[in-house]
Amino acid sequence: MTSFLLPCACGVDIPVTSSQAGGLATCPACGRQEPVPRLRDLGKLRVVTEVAGARTPKSWTGWHGLLLAGSLLAATAGLLSVSFTPPEVDFFDDATIKSSVMKAPTDEVYSAWATRLVHASIDRPPTEIEAKSRGRSDYYHSLQNGLRTAAAVGALLALVGVGGVLSKRKVNGR
Ligand SMILES: [Zn+2]
Repeated sequence: MTSFLLPCACGVDIPVTSSQAGGLATCPACGRQEPVPRLRDLGKLRVVTEVAGARTPKSWTGWHGLLLAGSLLAATAGLLSVSFTPPEVDFFDDATIKSSVMKAPTDEVYSAWATRLVHASIDRPPTEIEAKSRGRSDYYHSLQNGLRTAAAVGALLALVGVGGVLSKRKVNGR
């Protein structure tokens, strides 16, 4: 069915059909009654052809943004977190260890033993290389944990986004 757009004084276009020609149309926005032109003048109005069940254009909402950002974060951080294996801590032969410990100042050796190794149930201090290796291993482990957390947060955001998109659709009756 062809509709014509009758401009209302409030700026809204009132859709009217030829059956309303010569009569009055009520504006859906302001409620004003606007006179509809006679049939022969209807053609001067803009025409809109309504398609049955026409969908309103998809509107991009914050929920969509959240869904996209969360998915990207989850995918990127998730992929990165499985892209490497954190290095294991290296251990060295007794001679290397002994000489390293002997060369280290006593207070350093004691401090390492007292602050770290006692709690780790290791009864010798780490060599410099071990400490470095442990530091590197710790770094990559925390990096991986951080990426996993980011991936989880991203997945959560994406889920919230999906929920928002779906509930908005429900409200819109789609
Ligand atoms: Zn109006």
